Amino acid sequence: MSVQTPDIAIIGGGPVGSLAAATLSRAGYSVALFERGAAPKPDTTRPDTRGYALAAGSVQLLDDLGYWSSVADQATPIRSIVVSRRGGLGRVHLNARDHGRAALGQVVPAAALDPMLNEACRAAGVDLHYDSTLAGLDPAEGDRRTLHIEGAKDEATWSARLILAADGVSSPTRKALGLPVQRLRYDADALVFDVRPDRPHNGQAFERFTDEGPLALLPQADGRMNVVWVAPPQTCEQRLEQGEAERLRELQARFGWTLGRLRPAGPVVRFPLERVHAPDPVAERALLLGNAAHSVHPVAGQGLNLSLRDVAGLLGALRTGRQVDGTPAFAADPGAAAVLEAYAKDRRQDVGSVVAATDFLARGLLHAAGLRGHGLGAGMMAVDRLRPARDALARSAMGLGPLPRHTLAHLPAAGQGTP
Ligand SMILES: Cc1cc2nc3c(=O)[nH]c(=O)nc-3n(C[C@H](O)[C@H](O)[C@H](O)COP(=O)(O)OP(=O)(O)OC[C@H]3O[C@@H](n4cnc5c(N)ncnc54)[C@H](O)[C@@H]3O)c2cc1C
Repeated sequence: MSVQTPDIAIIGGGPVGSLAAATLSRAGYSVALFERGAAPKPDTTRPDTRGYALAAGSVQLLDDLGYWSSVADQATPIRSIVVSRRGGLGRVHLNARDHGRAALGQVVPAAALDPMLNEACRAAGVDLHYDSTLAGLDPAEGDRRTLHIEGAKDEATWSARLILAADGVSSPTRKALGLPVQRLRYDADALVFDVRPDRPHNGQAFERFTDEGPLALLPQADGRMNVVWVAPPQTCEQRLEQGEAERLRELQARFGWTLGRLRPAGPVVRFPLERVHAPDPVAERALLLGNAAHSVHPVAGQGLNLSLRDVAGLLGALRTGRQVDGTPAFAADPGAAAVLEAYAKDRRQDVGSVVAATDFLARGLLHAAGLRGHGLGAGMMAVDRLRPARDALARSAMGLGPLPRHTLAHLPAAGQGTP
């Protein structure tokens, strides 16, 4: 049986696996991607109703890579964010203009981002395999690791210098690698759907903390808002069973009338919520990326932003210097222990702090009543009035941390790299 030998094999073709595949292929590596799902068909709308809130730093990252312009016309700028508590004092208002920017971030429908990244893989020459899952993984031998892939019709053997596990929260590849993981199933699910308010949203996003979980409304195109409504699973179940009119009445009671009447504008999808964190995402010639490495509560919309920084971080760790023409040069062996250790060291702090902060927001603020509630309300009022505190919050919302911008912006087009 013949064995195929790409430099890098990626398991999972979600947004993170796809971005990693397209980017690494442009860096000059041969990349094979295996996705469990069927090949996307043109003109088929995805059942994913999410609008990804991408921080300004993530938009910059996609722009540096040359991808932003393909989704920009479907994105909606977040010009301001209002954070409040239902039934409590205190409110924080962040305005992009106060921080010298036109937008704090952008909301991009998953239904637009995912096909764009898929197309980016094709354009970069990634070897794409759908209906394919990992059937087994051998220990590393020399500078390669063998993986067994089960396709729709047959099983094949592959050997790669680096295996990237981007196969989501339950990551079968993470299990096969035997990497330990901390998991917590939140007592919460999220219902995600679009509504059309009577009043224009003017690019305003809302994050409202309620006694059953956070409720976010994100600005979308055509005056719509994308609702992320977190509540205990049995409450979500009831809301799915009740009719649309009843569900909207309850949403209106919880959100209020700031935007006038909220009218239904699309199907509802339910997402179970879980915190997953692999403290050490590195194994021999293998690395966890995206939800396989860390899945966080959607409060504050941080998960994909964090994972996009993972992909940028991996590219930074692979970079060895410059070629004579000034473009970046990359490591000949992408799975070398030194590369993977440098990546893990570089990403530890960002990942750890986002996992901890989102967990605190999701659980710590859930029942903020009594003295704790007053303290929180006072804290929010103080942040709203104190410019340095507001600046710090806005910087973190915009995700403008250090990125290897030179590397991102100077990646060659498909097939021109020379690791
Ligand atoms: C309700 C909600 C709202 C969110 N909103 C935001 C937001 O506003 N902003 C933000 O930054 N983040 C947000 N997130 C987080 C974001 O959705 C995740 O960070 C992102 O989906 C992670 O992408 P991924 O590619 O790692 O994983 P996934 O999207 O889970 O993709 C994993 C892929 O692997 C494939 N796969 C699984 N098993 C196998 C296998 N055995 N073999 C081959 N393929 C396999 C799957 O089919 C899938 O395509 C939100 C999350 C939720 C739940």
